[in-house]
Amino acid sequence: MIQEIKVNLAESYSIYLGAGILKEALFLQTCRAYAGKIVILSDSNVSTLYETLLETLLAEFKPLCLSFPAGEAFKTRETKAMLEDKMQAAGCNRDTCLIALGGGVVSDLAGFIAATYCRGIPVIYLPTTLLAMVDASVGGKTAVNTARSKNSIGVFYQPKAVFMDIDFLQTLSYGEIKNGLSEILKHALIQDKVQFQRLIEFRKKHPEKNWLLSDSTWLLETIAASVQIKKNIVEQDEKELGLRKILNFGHTIAHVIELLSDYQIPHGQAVAVGLYLESELSQHYGHLSEIEFKTIEASLQLLDLNIQTAYLSDLEPVTRALSVDKKTRDRQWRFVLLDRIGATCKEYVRVIDLPQLKESLQAYQEKFE
Ligand code: ADP
Ligand code: ZN
Repeated sequence: MIQEIKVNLAESYSIYLGAGILKEALFLQTCRAYAGKIVILSDSNVSTLYETLLETLLAEFKPLCLSFPAGEAFKTRETKAMLEDKMQAAGCNRDTCLIALGGGVVSDLAGFIAATYCRGIPVIYLPTTLLAMVDASVGGKTAVNTARSKNSIGVFYQPKAVFMDIDFLQTLSYGEIKNGLSEILKHALIQDKVQFQRLIEFRKKHPEKNWLLSDSTWLLETIAASVQIKKNIVEQDEKELGLRKILNFGHTIAHVIELLSDYQIPHGQAVAVGLYLESELSQHYGHLSEIEFKTIEASLQLLDLNIQTAYLSDLEPVTRALSVDKKTRDRQWRFVLLDRIGATCKEYVRVIDLPQLKESLQAYQEKFE
């Protein structure tokens, strides 16, 4: 069965969700609607695992398969240029449709290439990580990194369709699956208490290691609910002028950890720490109740999301990293705070100054002593 979620924007598109859905006629029909020629773009890991499968499914187009080395470090202008050169050498023009087969790195890069190649060609996303399903595939942000900062060169560009096939998740490590779980939890915390409770209840019934993939019906419902939360926010504020900022809950701290670890700590892991600390700040400022803060803390542990990191031990590097953030002015840092589980504070971002941050970081360190 294929579930359809429509994303209503100036350039609307549908997200299709299910198990084994690429083998259904709809996928081929959608490709036929947009493609003369097809380019399948993936990274080195995903191409080893799934390129042949896709090549077979799309055999009628005789697709061109392109890939680049896996990892955030290769999401660069140089990789983009290398891939564009290969597409030009193969004679790709405006009737080419790009198929992004991979995690967020692939879709960010493929989306950006699609946005600028011949001033815009169609792109279809096939996310292969849980994180890319619930995050990168919704909202139209595309980008590459530079030596100085992450996702700093890019555009908003919507795909023609997204096919989320949970069969891809079978080959993902538990750690990678948990990276997606952090964003699922974030979505629940900012907008959907029922989803938060569903996560907790399910985990209590499934203490086993492989719990997230143990029930595909539950997993599909969970992904759909998470996508729905992000979609509702993005539909109201596509270009992040206001409301969409709440999706940055947990991310001010997450970006510090990513920067200080030189991007060795994966995004999802950094977000888990950010969810904890920014919930603590929310409580500190008298928004989130102590009971709910403790509930969030317990949920992170229950969901097996680690909140301990050495990268926050010294205040100085933390404040330095915070100051690099483009949202920072005059050593006043901008955070999204929770009002309660399922709702953020009315102002989308709150300014927090050094003494306040210092107290929260100290409390955080004492916790692990
Ligand atoms: P994200 O976690 O942001 O979606 P990436 O694109 O960086 O991002 O993917 C994380 C890692 O998982 C990469 O090394 C990638 O090659 C690998 N990967 C992606 N999809 C799969 C999959 N279905 N099975 C195994 N490994 C995968
Ligand atoms: Zn994120």
